[in-house]
Amino acid sequence: MSLIQVSRGTRDLLPEEIQYWQQIEAIAREVFSRATYQEIRTPIFEQTDLFERGMGEATDVVSKEMYTFQDRGDRSLTLRPEGTAGLVRSYVQHNLYAQGEIQRLWYVGPMFRYERPQAGRQRQFHQVGIEALGSADPRADAEVIAIAKDLLNAIGLENLRLEFNSIGDRQDRLQYREALVAFLTPYQNDLDPDSQERLTRNPLRILDTKDEKTQDILQNVPSIHDHLSPSSQKRFEQVQQLLTDLGIDYNINAKLVRGLDYYTHTVFEIQSDDLGAQATVCAGGRYDGLVKELGGPETPAVGWASGLERLVILMQQLQPPTAPTLDFYVVSRGDRAEAQALKVAQTLRQLRFSAELDLSGSAFGKQFKRADRKGAAACLVLGDAEAENLTVQLKWLASGEQRAIGQSELPSLADEIRQQIEASRALPRVD
Ligand code: ATP
Ligand code: MG
Repeated sequence: MSLIQVSRGTRDLLPEEIQYWQQIEAIAREVFSRATYQEIRTPIFEQTDLFERGMGEATDVVSKEMYTFQDRGDRSLTLRPEGTAGLVRSYVQHNLYAQGEIQRLWYVGPMFRYERPQAGRQRQFHQVGIEALGSADPRADAEVIAIAKDLLNAIGLENLRLEFNSIGDRQDRLQYREALVAFLTPYQNDLDPDSQERLTRNPLRILDTKDEKTQDILQNVPSIHDHLSPSSQKRFEQVQQLLTDLGIDYNINAKLVRGLDYYTHTVFEIQSDDLGAQATVCAGGRYDGLVKELGGPETPAVGWASGLERLVILMQQLQPPTAPTLDFYVVSRGDRAEAQALKVAQTLRQLRFSAELDLSGSAFGKQFKRADRKGAAACLVLGDAEAENLTVQLKWLASGEQRAIGQSELPSLADEIRQQIEASRALPRVD
């Protein structure tokens, strides 16, 4: 019989790795809530139309990467490939725009794209992201970028680069698109096949190509910067000034366009030098057209998403896994002692200690060895004598000190014991 394995492009996150995820999620929660961003959770599948309208049918994600299926009621549904479209759908559906001038929201969760799996690129992956809806102020752009930096720094990441650009408003882009197509058409047959196709469907995306021959052709490509209206140009400069004032370094990258249709003005990516080919850890920008596109009122918005797998890879390079800590390992032998040990372990947990109960029934020596391996601060030991007297031996593993206490005394001794556990952790272990 062949074993069933995880599906291609998906991964199990085993306990050893989970600590990194939990750490990142905890840091993200804290960074976001300090900046008054509130969490929102939207469904993992949505109607296919949402992504077609929200992301644009010409994007790679919509045209090639979506997990789309008919459900039993013959509806076309899609596993979300990103977080913004669903969040904006929810914002419109629940009139969140009516609640105040600006909504600051964040999310985290799995996303799904049918891609060729590689290191840092999967079919089920996870993103954490923030969106500020309802402000066209350039400070909103700078704020979301600053929060991205705060998060990445709080995680401990270094060697990060902020690539920054403006792609103007729709009008600027239409003009630029024409200039770009005019420039590229004479080279049409020399472009890579993807870029040839993009020439009619989504020419800006050609700037993003990884094909070397196409990159050569792009060397003298017209710049979006020559097609920004005076007000777009001014806005671009304002955001730059704000970043400079915040002490945030950036490179202006005229070829940075992002794949999604709804972006306007600010686009940015944060890249790491420590990731190889899949270098982008955070990507985002302004999307003033999306809320209206999805049936809401004209609402400017800006945000970003960051791929958690890539953050975890970087974090694992930086810090070794930390051993879990354990307050008590409960050791027992003999029928009555074993029955009481279960109750003692429960009492400890109710007193807010962590406690693992040895269920093996093996010799005391073996149980003590296991307690050591688990890094317990102390053992509670029950044998026949303790069961008879309703006591336990409290044995400190670092010093070997031991004393008998009544099982019913545990609650009144809890504070004293807690202090001793803390003190024992501060000391180096003697083995
Ligand atoms: P790429 O050019 O790497 O395909 P993208 O433009 O498709 O990126 P976005 O849609 O902007 O990426 O997603 C934002 C972030 O989410 C990326 O920078 C990356 O960190 C992460 N991400 C995107 N796709 C995947 C994936 N398939 N697996 C893991 N992480 C991903
Ligand atoms: Mg992609």
